[in-house]
Amino acid sequence: MTQTVFHTLIIGAGAAGMMCAARIGQKGHSVALIDHAVKIGEKIRISGGGRCNFTNRRIDGHDGSPYYVSQQPRFVRHALSRYRAQDFIRLVEAYGIAYHEKHKGQMFCDGSAQQIIDMLQNECARGNVSWHTGCTVTAVGKLPADSAQGTRFEVRTDQGVFHCRHLTIATGALAVPAIGATAFGYELAKQFGHSIIPPEAALVPLRFEHWAQQGFDHLAGIALPVRIRTGSGKQAMAFDEDLLFRHKGLSGPAILQISSYWQPGQCLSIDLVPDIDLADALCSGKSDQKIQLNTALKQLCPALPERLLDFWLARPEFSPFAAQKWADIPNAVLQQLGRSLNNWTLLPSGSDGHKKAEATRGGVNVKEIDPKTMQSKLQPGLYFIGEVMDITGWLGGYNFQWAWASAVCAAEAIAD
Ligand SMILES: Cc1cc2nc3c(=O)[nH]c(=O)nc-3n(C[C@H](O)[C@H](O)[C@H](O)COP(=O)(O)OP(=O)(O)OC[C@H]3O[C@@H](n4cnc5c(N)ncnc54)[C@H](O)[C@@H]3O)c2cc1C
Repeated sequence: MTQTVFHTLIIGAGAAGMMCAARIGQKGHSVALIDHAVKIGEKIRISGGGRCNFTNRRIDGHDGSPYYVSQQPRFVRHALSRYRAQDFIRLVEAYGIAYHEKHKGQMFCDGSAQQIIDMLQNECARGNVSWHTGCTVTAVGKLPADSAQGTRFEVRTDQGVFHCRHLTIATGALAVPAIGATAFGYELAKQFGHSIIPPEAALVPLRFEHWAQQGFDHLAGIALPVRIRTGSGKQAMAFDEDLLFRHKGLSGPAILQISSYWQPGQCLSIDLVPDIDLADALCSGKSDQKIQLNTALKQLCPALPERLLDFWLARPEFSPFAAQKWADIPNAVLQQLGRSLNNWTLLPSGSDGHKKAEATRGGVNVKEIDPKTMQSKLQPGLYFIGEVMDITGWLGGYNFQWAWASAVCAAEAIAD
């Protein structure tokens, strides 16, 4: 028979929800997880190309806030130092899950992301967590202060009515609605008086006007390391990552990272040859050079894919010089060419949106949440964990680490 009174009810059985439920259950409290999805942990399953980039080692021992986008990035500091990447790695090791480190501290499963889902479900089983999947929440309300067993909330669903003392919202954000993302968490937060930082797609490919007309679609599939920048002054942000040309625009880690900072109307500056001052190298190296300009460029920029280089030299301002001897080309042209590759400036027209995003920036305003317990400052007993909050990690395992760390902080506060 369904137990209708729980110490804690968690809505959203994703990364943060499962972690939180397991911890509370293992401390001996009755806890239920409600999710409208029938299949659990879908975002984990598709994460990291199916191998789940479950944390990032770089975060440990440092102030983690630079790796997060938020109106209040320092909010993450307590939770990330309370539950570290190493703590999650220990859990992964305890389950015998083989893993490896990729570049920049990114930790991936050797096998499949399903191993992380199985591990979390097993942790929940150890805590006797009660599951209600395929369950639609129809209303959430407050109970009178003198309610039985100290319950504070009533959650109405199509599987019955639940009462609980602690209610935790772990419904994530808006990325990939096709696998169950909804704005439920924001609506519920607003119901209890919280403000929402407008949610927008983050870690998302960007699009550009007249992309195909300019022939960039022919470059689809080309990938290369770049330095990418946007914003200015205190808002300036830069990443050294790989860029990927697509039929409809640009993607790859460089674009995904910068997309979390990019604001509509702002330009991007992309350095396609980041380790060389090309204008200087072209002008200072040309004397007595009998090789053609395209050969010179290949020598100077070995990491620049040939297809991209040929495309660049076919531009009207450079094509008359492509087959000329390097030494004969005027410095003004060489400077223009060098600058165009070192500082390719382009204005995105928009992004691929929530459908193709890996995260959402914005969310429940963390000013109204206690950073040590994740409890609402406006409604006692109400908690927010994971991506529903205005906390968005960089690409590279930072979002999952936030899910684990915020979940553990809330669980400890609730269980105590
Ligand atoms: C394609 C992709 C790849 C990613 N790869 C990585 C990666 O490798 N590393 C990394 O760190 N991050 C990655 N992320 C981001 C990461 O998946 C999320 O940040 C993380 O899952 C957030 O955890 P969460 O528990 O807050 O939300 P989620 O894991 O999204 O869980 C939210 C849960 O709430 C449920 N829910 C939503 N609405 C309702 C409702 N109305 N009623 C009931 N239940 C509801 C959902 O069904 C879901 O089960 C990736 C994201 C995507 C989309």
